[in-house]
Amino acid sequence: MRTVANVLLMLLVQSVAMGQQRHIDAKAYLFSVTIPDTGQIIHGRTSALLSVSGYDTVKLNLLNMQVDSVWRGNGGDAFILVPFHYDGRVLSVATEGKSVVELIIQYHGTPEDGLIIGPNLRGRRVAFGDNWPERARYWIPTIDHPSDKAQVTFAVTAPRSWRVVANGKFRLSDRWEESHPIPTYTMVIGAGEFTVSKHRPVINGRDTIPIEVWTYPEDSAFADSVPFRRATEIVEVMQRLIGPFPYEKLAHVQSSTKFGGMENSSAIFYAEKPYVERRMGEGVVRHETAHQWFGDAVTERDWPHIWLSEGFATYFDGVIGAALDGDSVLVNAMRSNAEVYFKSDVTDRPIVDSGYTADPIKLLNANSYPKGAWVLHMLRGLMGDSAFFRGLRTYYSTYRDSTATSEDLQRVMEKAAKADFGWFFHQWLYQPGYPQLDVSWRYDAGARRVLLGIAQRQKSEWGLFRLPALTLEFRGPAGAVVRRDVAVTGREADLRVDLPFAPAEVRVDPDGKLLLRVTAIVRR
Ligand SMILES: [Zn+2]
Repeated sequence: MRTVANVLLMLLVQSVAMGQQRHIDAKAYLFSVTIPDTGQIIHGRTSALLSVSGYDTVKLNLLNMQVDSVWRGNGGDAFILVPFHYDGRVLSVATEGKSVVELIIQYHGTPEDGLIIGPNLRGRRVAFGDNWPERARYWIPTIDHPSDKAQVTFAVTAPRSWRVVANGKFRLSDRWEESHPIPTYTMVIGAGEFTVSKHRPVINGRDTIPIEVWTYPEDSAFADSVPFRRATEIVEVMQRLIGPFPYEKLAHVQSSTKFGGMENSSAIFYAEKPYVERRMGEGVVRHETAHQWFGDAVTERDWPHIWLSEGFATYFDGVIGAALDGDSVLVNAMRSNAEVYFKSDVTDRPIVDSGYTADPIKLLNANSYPKGAWVLHMLRGLMGDSAFFRGLRTYYSTYRDSTATSEDLQRVMEKAAKADFGWFFHQWLYQPGYPQLDVSWRYDAGARRVLLGIAQRQKSEWGLFRLPALTLEFRGPAGAVVRRDVAVTGREADLRVDLPFAPAEVRVDPDGKLLLRVTAIVRR
């Protein structure tokens, strides 16, 4: 509780500084959870510290639990039993005019989701939190939205032979403390019989960040030697490109998450099956590790901006791969990202998509992942490596432990490039689709130039795209190759390119730098 007391003091100072804006903000949670030896009934005791202004009731999300009692802090160490209202979905407690509200909630019940208790693929009983997107509320009372990040401590009572992992640093016999605010969708515990192997730690000045691999005993040797062989190097690449690792440790945990991987802050959970089948590779480790910076430390403020999490993690999977194994890793990754996106059923929707806020799981689609990665790749092409990474480092340091929107990213990148990217962010994030180009050309031997017509043939609902630097490659006889960048704006562009030879072939975007499809190249 010392942490909570410290936060309380900090809060009092802050709320004086902040004045009287209307808000409710969870600052810290302490979740005590007892997992039974048999059956599914958990007992929980949550201490929640909230900053409140302009509201007379605090509402917490908690689904289908039995709430036994609620206590409210009354100054110092005193707590009083208070009345509450609970309808099986939302727990409401009066603030009594307090600007700092500390609640203790005692509850029990069988989580219908969110905390999965049962046998793992190796036949042993385990328990794993699996909160994304809004499933924390099935087992812990929170303000369950990515906009409200908070510090979290887990105190777990589990069967005797089990080990427990959670976010943050291991403090006492049963306690894990995460001192950085994290989104509720990453507040998790993992409990069961694990083999824990310690990889080389990351050293940041005076801080040592342990890198651990938690696996079911049968899968430990495989995990250490295949998917997690370079777990430390992956963190080091991200630190070099973006900034310091945001948390106190990093545990990679085999689990019963329903996702392939789940980027829980400092305790990443991976699906158990690919370990058991020995087909797990490093890509998922690079993706989930990149999320620690993007998604966890810098969190999308609301679901429509989820590409700030998934697009970044998808892109940095390739970027880290390129740093470790050469540029072709990224080239191949972007090619397959384009194919996945072209074939998907979301090309008629924009990346920033407000249509799915009630059902965020539908946002786990080819817009958020591969097209999101392409937005970053094209922005990098537009800005150049140096300004691009400088911008991302500023974005990370500015919004670390906080939340951001696509507009926040745009502002930071515009500043880094000293340019206006309104058109770029608009066409790639708010317009659906991608450019489909018909190219026709002929060589004017007298004038020694190529005359080109480039037409945007995508459906009109997708809108037009501005391509300020479309690379054309002219291949002549005897191996001559000339490249020119041209600007394409509008539906039809007529272009002339001076060229000393008659080309035998014209290639469009030969290095695959843009998300586009060439539907025809015709010689007139
Ligand atoms: Zn992801």
